[in-house]
Amino acid sequence: MPKTSAKKTAKAPVRPGLRAKTPAPKRKVLFVASEVVPFAKTGGLADVVGSLPRALMQLGCEVAVVLPKYKNISPEKYKLKLEIKDMAVPMGMGEMSTDILSTRLGDTHGTVYFVRNDRYFDRGGFYGTPEGDYHDNAERFAFFSRAVLEMLKSLNWYPEVLHLNDWQTGLVAAYLKTLYRSQPPFDSMKSLFTIHNMAYQGLFPKYILPMTGIGWEEFRHEKLEFYDQVNFLKAGLVYSDALNTVSERYAQEIQTDEFGHGLQGVLKARSTDLYGIVNGIDYDEWNPATDKEIPAQYTAKNHEKKVASKKKLLQEQGLQFHPDRPVIGLISRLTDQKGLDLIAEIIEEFLGLDVQFVVLGTGEPKYHALLEGLKSRFPDKLAVALKFDNRLAKLIYAGSDMFLMPSRFEPCGLGQMIAMKYGTIPLVRATGGLADTVENLSPDGKKGTGFVFENYRSDELLFVIKRAVEAFHQPKLWGGLIERAMKKDFSWDASARKYLELYGRIIKGH
Ligand code: ADP
Repeated sequence: MPKTSAKKTAKAPVRPGLRAKTPAPKRKVLFVASEVVPFAKTGGLADVVGSLPRALMQLGCEVAVVLPKYKNISPEKYKLKLEIKDMAVPMGMGEMSTDILSTRLGDTHGTVYFVRNDRYFDRGGFYGTPEGDYHDNAERFAFFSRAVLEMLKSLNWYPEVLHLNDWQTGLVAAYLKTLYRSQPPFDSMKSLFTIHNMAYQGLFPKYILPMTGIGWEEFRHEKLEFYDQVNFLKAGLVYSDALNTVSERYAQEIQTDEFGHGLQGVLKARSTDLYGIVNGIDYDEWNPATDKEIPAQYTAKNHEKKVASKKKLLQEQGLQFHPDRPVIGLISRLTDQKGLDLIAEIIEEFLGLDVQFVVLGTGEPKYHALLEGLKSRFPDKLAVALKFDNRLAKLIYAGSDMFLMPSRFEPCGLGQMIAMKYGTIPLVRATGGLADTVENLSPDGKKGTGFVFENYRSDELLFVIKRAVEAFHQPKLWGGLIERAMKKDFSWDASARKYLELYGRIIKGH
């Protein structure tokens, strides 16, 4: 049965698009994030903060990145060196001590800094365990945010823009506009806050406020108060000089009741400062022409070599190879956001088709149980890997014929862009970045890069799956789809230029 009624795309006002082709002025930028590839990753945020700085450096910017030093980040593997020892960070009525470590960002001249405090970050997870979030996340990320500003003082390195990402860094913007406002050069330092997902807000009881050092005068509806709680994401939205999110469509959607997660009013009030810039893909990392994790490299010109990956994938997963049977891949957090509830509604009918379905992901226990339970009933149709595995992800991107991403909402989504690069045809819902990056196959079959359905309804999902399976059996049509998908350019360069222009606007105070 349909889950929700049909709703047309949001028509909220949005800022005029940024021009991609501007001369590239050199800027000095610090990225602040809780995840950065290759050091720490649970999702797309990590990919973005791992790639965008490189693209900006190629445009002549001076860029550094800072994240917490989590337990999994090996000092030996990443050649971390001690940059600052025992730096004092004000917390509540007292101080906490931290070390700052550093390394190079890959083969670039950019620096990655790590805020080390073992009490907060020397743990198994980044935000919590499968049982739930850590109870002291407010303290952990308030500390991280404050430590970032103290680090800049100690380094005596002052970027023009602090590029903040998601709720874990929202307090940096608040600190800049409150406690650090009277401390030059912080008074002229600008902040850009990028929203990677409105659903995660960092919502905490108000008693945590004194620990942050921010005064009660900021605990107001127009500032960081949200229904009598402290909201770190809202802090980012309210105090930053400009905001952006990771696709133009999502920038419109989050100003509506359906997608704003309660903060649509705040976003509407800031709509003149809110931009949409689609993420790119790091083609050094995601490229079937050079990918060493797949058995045979290929390009748009010889994409028939994909079949070697398909065979290897199926063999590894214990499924039989049938040339005429499409393999549909899913690599995702297994949550409602990603459309798992829709898939669950139609899974039996779906697996009744002549298809094979390979799932890689972790998430809600009910979806783990559902998928595990179905494995014994569809032994030659379904393979399930309930883990996080970069190597297997690449094999699925290359070895599948189609990639399923029926999200309820999707700020940008990287999976569909990676899939297209690997000639794997995306089946997506028209929301957020999926709507901006996947073009539905035209009725004559000559245009388009995937299959798109409009409404968040399981019958619509099943319909596009069936349509895609039919198309798969028309080799000429399917070959054209693969070529068009593989030729799409989702590299970072165009988006990095838009960020540069946005930094310029912020610095000039426009
Ligand atoms: P989100 O950030 O909302 O989870 P995105 O599509 O923006 O979704 O990014 C997800 C990223 O994480 C992609 O690079 C995807 O390949 C990767 N990913 C998701 N789940 C897994 C997994 N279980 N194993 C390996 N990579 C995964």
